Amino acid sequence: MSFLSVSHLKKVYGKASSQKVAINNISFSVEQGEFVMIVGASGSGKSTLMHILGGVEVPTQGTLTLNGVDVFSQTAEQLAAYRRNSVSIIYQSYNLVPLLTVQENIYFPTMLDGKEINHKKLALIAKQLKIEDILKRFPNQLSGGQQQRVSIARSLYLQPELLLADEPTGNLDVANSDEVMRIFKQAHDVLHQTIIMITHNMALTAFADRVITLQDGLIVNDEVRA
Ligand code: ADP
Ligand code: MG
Repeated sequence: MSFLSVSHLKKVYGKASSQKVAINNISFSVEQGEFVMIVGASGSGKSTLMHILGGVEVPTQGTLTLNGVDVFSQTAEQLAAYRRNSVSIIYQSYNLVPLLTVQENIYFPTMLDGKEINHKKLALIAKQLKIEDILKRFPNQLSGGQQQRVSIARSLYLQPELLLADEPTGNLDVANSDEVMRIFKQAHDVLHQTIIMITHNMALTAFADRVITLQDGLIVNDEVRA
């Protein structure tokens, strides 16, 4: 059994006359610890797939299984727990809470869940992501690269079974983009974090174990990298 398995997944938007097939009957599986990149032209269905993997969009047909759990056959409460605990999604925009400091932003999901916060864990992640000097600052006092590092720290702190990222370097210059990729690579190499990342920048695929290409909602290439 695979760690993550997508089977005959389909997503259709809209009603009868104006239907749009965003994902068209795709199947693939991912093993624990893999770093997979998803590439493809704009409109090929990348974000739709990511939202289904993240449990925030329900497929029209097909199944998603993570660690043996059929994600969309769960109750609403279980699905909400999946979104909170099993996966974490990093976006191009950083989605930090402006009124909270960096540290509070990182702890925020854990506190919402009523769980204990762990200062040691934060300290380790902050060091790895080079944000230990900005923990008391507010998001509007940070550069874009710093904000993205904080949003990645927030995700890594949760130790999700599956880390998802939709164009995480899309708003960053080359230096900051390289830094963000170094962080993902480190999470992959050191923490054995399973990562599925969308990018339109083919140069970034060098970081991945495997590259899946989408075209018009279909997988047209699935390639393992050396
Ligand atoms: P990508 O991320 O590869 O650019 P998307 O998954 O965002 O692609 O979109 C795939 C297709 O589905 C596009 O044609 C897009 O217009 C359509 N689409 C995406 N989201 C919606 C939505 N909420 N309602 C209707 N159509 C949508
Ligand atoms: Mg997209």
